[in-house]
Parts: sequence; C-alpha cells; structure tokens
Amino acid sequence: MDIIKIYDNSDKLYYIGGVVRDKLLGVESFDIDITCIGNAIEYCAKFGKVIQENPEFGTIRVEVDGRAVDFASTRSEVYEKKGHLPVVTKIGCTLKEDVMRRDFTINALAMNVSTGEIVDYTGGLKDLKNKKLRVLHDGSFVDDPTRIIRGLKFRVRFGFELEEHTRHLQEDYLKNINYDMSYKRVKKELIETFNLNSQHAFEIFVNEGIYKLVSPAEFKLPEVNIENLIKKYPVKNIWPVYVGLLPDLSRLEFTKEERKIIEDFRSIGSVKTDFEIYKAFDGLAAESILLYGIAKNMNAAVRYLDVLCGIKISLSGNDLLKLGIEPSPKYQEIFDYILREKLKNPALTHDDEIQLAKEYFTVN
Ligand code: ATP
Repeated sequence: MDIIKIYDNSDKLYYIGGVVRDKLLGVESFDIDITCIGNAIEYCAKFGKVIQENPEFGTIRVEVDGRAVDFASTRSEVYEKKGHLPVVTKIGCTLKEDVMRRDFTINALAMNVSTGEIVDYTGGLKDLKNKKLRVLHDGSFVDDPTRIIRGLKFRVRFGFELEEHTRHLQEDYLKNINYDMSYKRVKKELIETFNLNSQHAFEIFVNEGIYKLVSPAEFKLPEVNIENLIKKYPVKNIWPVYVGLLPDLSRLEFTKEERKIIEDFRSIGSVKTDFEIYKAFDGLAAESILLYGIAKNMNAAVRYLDVLCGIKISLSGNDLLKLGIEPSPKYQEIFDYILREKLKNPALTHDDEIQLAKEYFTVN
C-alpha cells in the first residue's frame, strides 16, 4: 500500500491525518504527512533532500521521490489560550498521544509506512465508512473553533455529516463564541472551504450560524445561487464572493487585493441607467460586481457583465487635442457624452465618435 517510496522497517513511521483518510476514500491527497515516533529531524533527513526544518515543532520537510513530504515528530499539545495556537508539551510522545491532538476521528488514522497496517485509536474507520465527522473530545471546538469551519469543509468535500453529539457541541459553541481567536487560521479555512465554490457550503455556513465566528450580527442567506453565478462568471478569487457578503469583516486580515474587492463592492451606490451602471462598475474586479449583484441589484450586475463591459469608447484626449479643444474638465464631459451615445448605439465607429465630439463641443 505505497503512498510514496520510503524504505524503512523501523515501525517508527506512520502516514497520518488527511493522507490516510484520502487513501482510504480513494481520493488524491494534497500533501503527505508522516509522523515519526521520536525525533523526526534526526531520523528522517536521510530519506531525501531536506527542504525545511522547524525544530520548535520537531518537523522536517524532505523531498522524497520528487514529492515534498512532511515528517513530524510525534507530539502532544495543550491549548493554554483557547482559540490560539496550542503549546507543544512533549516532542517524541507515543503515537496515541499524537493522534489525540487532532480534529476529527477521520483525520486521526495512522498507517504504518512499512506494513500498511492501519492504527485506529478513535474509531475513525467506522466514521469514515458511515460518513460521519466526530470530534475527539467535548472541548474540541472550545480549544480550536476553526475546527467548525474545517468540519464544514470536509462535510462538503466528502459529503459527510456531523455526528449527532458533535453537532450539539458545534451548536453549543456557536451560542457562546469566544471571539479572542486566531483569525489567521479562520481565514485559511474559509479560503479552503469557499474556494470549493459550493452553494451547499454557504447554506450550511449561514443556516447553522457558522458565519457568527466571523460576523456576530444576524445574516440572512441571499436568494441568489452563488455557485451557479460563479460558474457563469468565473472570478480569480472565489472565496470573497461568499465571505465578502458578511456585514462585519473587521476580524479578518485582508490582502490589498481582497480589501479592494470588498471596499469597492460596499461603495457602489444605487444604479439604474446603463450609463450609471457602466460608470459604477467600469474598472472594478468581477468579484466586486458579483457581490453587488448578490447583495443589491443582480439586474445591474448581469447587464454590465453580459453586455456593457464589452463597450468601450475609442475617442482619446489626443483626438480632442487634434480637434483643437484645449485640455480642461470639458474633456470628461465630452467623454461622458460619447459614452452615453455609445451605450445607446455600440456600433458607433471612431469617426462617428469624433463627429459627435465636434458637435457636442460646438453646441456646449
Ligand atoms: P486537506 O486535504 O484539506 O489538506 P488535511 O486533513 O490533510 O486536509 P491539514 O490542514 O493538512 O488537513 O492537516 C493535516 C492533519 O493535521 C489533519 O488531518 C489533522 O489530523 C491535523 N489537523 C489539522 N488542523 C487541525 C486542527 N485545527 N486541529 C486538530 N488537528 C488538526
């Protein structure tokens, strides 16, 4: 049962977490994690070219067989500050202790690298078979609320359900959220979840109140099917088209590009005519336009994306100079006039535009 070619008969190495889950589900894994009972940095450097080491966590990334493999020393952790990164209490603990720090039983399976034997301390195999997500202990979401979003991601990605007690624990946590948490990790999980472009994920996110982890005020599910909208109008950044709808985003740290998407969307006022739509949307990211469509006026967004965005005036400042018109605020007036005309009649040629500019200038 080879995932990657590693020649080792020590019984120290176990595939762990997502890679085992994915192997058993028959889906491709994004990354390969191996836990090493003892010290991974000392033991695992021999398997290939070392890419990176992190002594604080006892981890080492090695290129094996052309793939980056993350080897981690078995470790136990405690959440001294709930909602924040855990503190490592022991590096080189038992496999069982290492497994117990994980999020769901399906992510707590280990597979012996040399024999392929599965080690299942938490009932992960049964849950995998029954398509259930089950946390390992009652304080799991209190320790790390990002697990609620991770749960959502796995529910959607694999078609799993929360096991009943875990669902109650989620409900309880969402009634009493501790907002002092690491939003960097929350953001990472939101990105991974909503980049799946799943309406189903968004419905769960809203209907179960998971969004309250980010934005506490009541939020209603928009009527638009965002998944279909994005399929029709593909965007570079999918996740902000979902998460950007929440009223309070102050806890998330955005990149410049993401911030602009949200700010542009929020600053668009009401638009009615083609001219107003064009002026409001021209130059904005498609993400902002979709957000506006979902939250405020879908007809305007679709009108722009289907028709208006393809219309451009060809008249330039140079053309106006050549007509003997001195540069002044009048230029903008003329461009706007030509734009209005072009939106009414997109077939206007460059010569038509020059003719219209001349006429406009003479009359005004
Ligand atoms: P993906 O396929 O999305 O990468 P994954 O399960 O491999 O899923 P990672 O984020 O790479 O997810 O994490 C690897 C493993 O680390 C998980 O399978 C799980 O065992 C553990 N893990 C990750 N995040 C947490 C968390 N917040 N709490 C507890 N354990 C976690």
